[in-house]
Amino acid sequence: MAKYFDGDDLFIIDAKTKGNIGRFMNHSCNPNVMVQHVLVDTHDLRLPWVAFFTKTRVMAGEEMCWDYNYEVGMVKGRRIDCKCHAPNCRGRLL
Ligand SMILES: [Zn+2]
Repeated sequence: MAKYFDGDDLFIIDAKTKGNIGRFMNHSCNPNVMVQHVLVDTHDLRLPWVAFFTKTRVMAGEEMCWDYNYEVGMVKGRRIDCKCHAPNCRGRLL
């Protein structure tokens, strides 16, 4: 069985200098969009496309948002409060 996420083989998406419309979607603790890895160009599990799919009916003009799935404490010394205003808001992103 192949190991895919071993040591130096980890890939990270950094939208600092390049990105697409996905970079404009904000976080919500009650998102209407989900993220799915899709193999398009290759069957190499390390290189999926990151695709966004709506998980609810989205009306024209409605904000689309996804759950960043950050975990509090995953970035040492960094705290970001969540302001998504969802009824189930977890209160913090980091
Ligand atoms: Zn929230």
